[in-house]
Amino acid sequence: MIRVCSSCAQKNRIPWSHLHVAGRCGRCKEEIEPIDRPIDVKSSAQFQEIIDNAEVPILVDFWAAWCGPCRLAAPRVTEVASRRAGRAVVLKVDTERMQDLAARFQIQGIPNFMVFEDGKVKSQQAGLVDVGVMEGWLD
Ligand SMILES: [Zn+2]
Repeated sequence: MIRVCSSCAQKNRIPWSHLHVAGRCGRCKEEIEPIDRPIDVKSSAQFQEIIDNAEVPILVDFWAAWCGPCRLAAPRVTEVASRRAGRAVVLKVDTERMQDLAARFQIQGIPNFMVFEDGKVKSQQAGLVDVGVMEGWLD
């Protein structure tokens, strides 16, 4: 993905497999921090590429705009992304826009959380949970 250097505004292309590591800006050599916020999934291909290449556990939040508990979960998911920066990557899948992914993983109740590790499903749970529970899935 493209990440903008905070010191010189250079756009740096970071491979999906390396979002969790600190890199260096190609122009000014300043450090680019590991990603610390959820990534909105834009396509199944992008989703698959991240899952297949990740070197850390991936937490996926399946949500929808009309879902009240999803709105309550959102800041918690963001907090997990921040707290786990460098050790995990957090994805958000809008089940209205990404219906193919929702169907593939048989998402019925949302919010629905999946954890992938080494390209495989490690856990899946529906319903609103606390930050501590989400972090437990990633350990
Ligand atoms: Zn820079």
